[in-house]
Amino acid sequence: MLLDVGDVYCIDARFYGNISRFINHLCEPNLFPVRVFTTHQDLRFPHIAFFAGKNIIAGEELGFDYGDHFWDIKGKFFSCQCCSPKCRHSAAALAQRQADSTPEGRQPSALPDTSSSTTPSSPS
Ligand SMILES: [Zn+2]
Repeated sequence: MLLDVGDVYCIDARFYGNISRFINHLCEPNLFPVRVFTTHQDLRFPHIAFFAGKNIIAGEELGFDYGDHFWDIKGKFFSCQCCSPKCRHSAAALAQRQADSTPEGRQPSALPDTSSSTTPSSPS
């Protein structure tokens, strides 16, 4: 069943927000945002609750995955600084993804293309 939720809204904490506005992106997040509805059921305006996805030690940075859509837009202006070995949005990862998406940047296959080979098979 498709739900018609009308206009699309996003959360922009540029001018107003609570302490959660300071939670950064992490490519290996320890928090997961969940849309919750407590006082109404208007799907356009959920509250966002953060749940720990693993044990978090005192002093550890809190973070959640902002998602690929965020990085598709913001990746043109800055890159992820999470320093994770699994970082998907670092400057190097963004440059590699951009190179892979352009025909000039495509790397040749590791295996030679033999699909049009006319080399006769040797007799056995
Ligand atoms: Zn990252």
